[in-house]
Amino acid sequence: MENCLFCKINQGEIPAEKVYDGENVFAIKDINPQAPVHLLIIPKKHLSTLLEIEAADCETIGSIFSVANDLAKERKLDESGFRVVANCGAGAGQSVFHIHYHLLGGRAMQWPPG
Ligand code: 5GP
Ligand code: ZN
Repeated sequence: MENCLFCKINQGEIPAEKVYDGENVFAIKDINPQAPVHLLIIPKKHLSTLLEIEAADCETIGSIFSVANDLAKERKLDESGFRVVANCGAGAGQSVFHIHYHLLGGRAMQWPPG
């Protein structure tokens, strides 16, 4: 997708700190971290919002959670706890319209998130 930040990062056109690069999914450090660990786990396929996910995407979306587990365990977050969150739509705080899952950890988390 042209003019998409995360498609451009995936294609190496815009730099980012990649922490994982798999067949269908990659992960980067968030440029404006909201916690000591703040990673973005991103499917390589361009989907604008969670509402575009179809049955054919479910294997890829499932793999996001196994990648999240691996990244969390590498950072010892399995012991302290972590949060995986995805914002759907501007009203929920989505600002980049290529779906991504935030992996947050390394500090106490509040609920509700606001
Ligand atoms: P959203 O608000 O859509 O749920 O999350 C978008 C996230 O992307 C934000 O946490 C924001 O800090 C992050 N972000 C925006 N631009 C860039 C960028 O150029 N590089 C990286 N690594 N993260 C970005
Ligand atoms: Zn994209």
